[in-house]
Amino acid sequence: MNLSSRTVAILIALLVAGVLTTTAIIVPTLPFREAVLAVGITVAGCFLLVYLSFEALIFQEINGIYAGLEHIKRKEFKRLSNKFLFRSEPIKRVRDEILQMAERRQQELEELKRLQVLRREFLADVSHELKTPIFAAQGFVHTILDEDEEGESDPVMRRKFLQKAAVSLDALDALVQDLVTISQLEKGVVRMRRQRFDLVTLVREIFELLEQQAARRDVRLELFPPTLAELSDPGLPVLADRNRIRQVLVNLIDNAIKYGREHGHVVVSLVESKSAVRLAVRDDGAGIAQEHLNRIFERFYRIDKSRSRESGGSGLGLAISKHIIEAHKSTIRVRSELGQGTTLEFKLPRPKAQ
Ligand code: ADP
Repeated sequence: MNLSSRTVAILIALLVAGVLTTTAIIVPTLPFREAVLAVGITVAGCFLLVYLSFEALIFQEINGIYAGLEHIKRKEFKRLSNKFLFRSEPIKRVRDEILQMAERRQQELEELKRLQVLRREFLADVSHELKTPIFAAQGFVHTILDEDEEGESDPVMRRKFLQKAAVSLDALDALVQDLVTISQLEKGVVRMRRQRFDLVTLVREIFELLEQQAARRDVRLELFPPTLAELSDPGLPVLADRNRIRQVLVNLIDNAIKYGREHGHVVVSLVESKSAVRLAVRDDGAGIAQEHLNRIFERFYRIDKSRSRESGGSGLGLAISKHIIEAHKSTIRVRSELGQGTTLEFKLPRPKAQ
């Protein structure tokens, strides 16, 4: 039974008064008026006595709990005391508050633990990724220095080693730039500058940029539907941050060339709907197995570790792309079938008709 201190005090007072009154009635010498007065005084006196002692006890208890909590919840302590003193059922309220607080703290603790694991993994990944190009460049430079010291310097070899060192340093530079980008995107300090631009022009520009890379693997870069290629200004306008979308498309098309089939096709399709344009980059490569599909957007996640690193990727491209697309309030999706190929797609809003 859930009795408040007030109810208990009244019950006790009535009980005491009952006993006293019965005694007074039984004792014949006490006149009726005095007997009623005695009942009134006894009830009031007992009520006050019991009620105040209950309240005092409860407050003492609560203050004890507050004192215990003070050192872990100093900021909220004041708020708690103001909120709960002089209200009914204070102990129940304090208990509820403590349970809520404990739950909140537990959630915070779990989140902190999760973040700590992620941070540790991230640091391990970053140092591992940095080591690879640094050690390579260091090796080439030391070889040149050693040969110089021994007087066996061959200008052709020297140039070759210097070129290799430069390639490693370029990879290091790209990695550091990607790391800066991803940390800024994760911190939320990068703001997307939405502007109206033509997607067809952008895709043509990227095809030109990646032309040689595609030629090395004999991959054909195509736009779908083919009629788009003939579109002139205003083409297919969208409202987004052009530079960031360029970065995403370069990464997706570059991946499609790298991981797609040699002598294959990479198709960029742009499909208009009422309020958006759906962009999809499709290759006809080996595809991605189900267990890797959701993980390819994680930082540094690579399916074939050695092959991907050889191809020069930082392993951050898709993580960065995901952040950029989400900052545009859209979602990047991957569909893939082993042996058939992979499609990565997302939507961008069309500008409102003027
Ligand atoms: P990377 O720099 O390694 O290319 P990304 O973040 O761009 O890093 O891609 C992560 C991984 O996802 C790649 O290492 C590769 O294993 C896989 N991947 C990305 N795109 C494709 C694709 N079109 N086909 C097959 N695998 C892909």
